Amino acid sequence: MTVSVIIAAGGQGTRLGGGVPKQWRAIGGKTLLERSIAAFDAHPRISEIVVVLPQGSDTAVPATVAKPRRVVTGGARRQDSVAEGFAAVSADASVVLVHDAARPFVTADVIDRAIDGAIAHGAVVPAVPVHDTVKQTAAASGARVVATLPRETLFLAQTPQGFRRDVLADAIDAGRKGASGTDEAMLAEQAGHDVHVVPGDEANVKITTAADLERARARSMAPAFRIGTGYDLHVFAEGRPLLLGGVKIPYDRGLKGHSDADAVCHAVTDAILGAANLGDIGRLFPDTDPRWKDADSLKLLADAAARVRDAGWQVVNVDVVVIAERPKIGPHAAAMQQSLAAALGLDPGAIAIKGKTNEGVDATGRGEALAVHAVALIARAGG
Ligand code: MG
Repeated sequence: MTVSVIIAAGGQGTRLGGGVPKQWRAIGGKTLLERSIAAFDAHPRISEIVVVLPQGSDTAVPATVAKPRRVVTGGARRQDSVAEGFAAVSADASVVLVHDAARPFVTADVIDRAIDGAIAHGAVVPAVPVHDTVKQTAAASGARVVATLPRETLFLAQTPQGFRRDVLADAIDAGRKGASGTDEAMLAEQAGHDVHVVPGDEANVKITTAADLERARARSMAPAFRIGTGYDLHVFAEGRPLLLGGVKIPYDRGLKGHSDADAVCHAVTDAILGAANLGDIGRLFPDTDPRWKDADSLKLLADAAARVRDAGWQVVNVDVVVIAERPKIGPHAAAMQQSLAAALGLDPGAIAIKGKTNEGVDATGRGEALAVHAVALIARAGG
């Protein structure tokens, strides 16, 4: 089946200011138009791309587009531009999508729903529910409310709108005969076709104002990686087991502490929390709280890792230095890698454990205490 998309970039986008049509404003080094084209170029069900540019525009479509593409010049109104685009759609296209270049964050799922909806219903609009209460006033600029609309039946229309070819032909024909609409679905309605709603996506925003553009830039420029550091020190005490990284290590003393005093888990927990800026172990699991007395620090680490995941991050790797005069850490490093990896949901290869002495100086060097440094890298989940 041949599916074509018409990307409407024919407007002058004057509301955004800056003297440049908005489709050529950039987010993260790529223009809105390039981003919109790339979304359809990457979608396996899209066969060809028709781009409608403003009159007098000499800006070429990026050469990186792999799919067949045509560029046509738009008309005075959006509906005129889409009509020009439709005339350039290949004869064998049975489904035609119409997309606003000003929606650069369209997802593959929304594109799929527009295609499937067009096949099932003839004409569909991806849309999101209205969450705010909607007031209708007496006039465009008037302040007097005449009605509160039932928001359960209200939806905000997005693009790409999907059409069976004959339905879009009818809609464009209606436009030629005097109907006018702010989108093609509205023309299809006027041509007597049923238009259905399919789920859109809150992220599929339209960039209309300078504030929209700034928000989108802030979102796209947020770094993909973050780094965090953690440190812990516990004093050795008689009559305690020595637990490091969840592994019980044979030694004549253990570490003193409110919890199980697993300094490796504590330092790693602080490193991943720090990377995601979610606070620290003392704030999340305070030692004044009886819940954490003798707590299993591996569980606290797993809890912290879940918080990091909930915040949209995944841990990439962790590097740990254990500073202790005795016992030797090396023989236990592999077991510690295994248990830390299980708590973090990682491959053991993503955890490094190194032992170090302190050359006999300070509390660690005198064997009175054990200290741990940890560094963690986290990445934005889903790329
Ligand atoms: Mg500690």
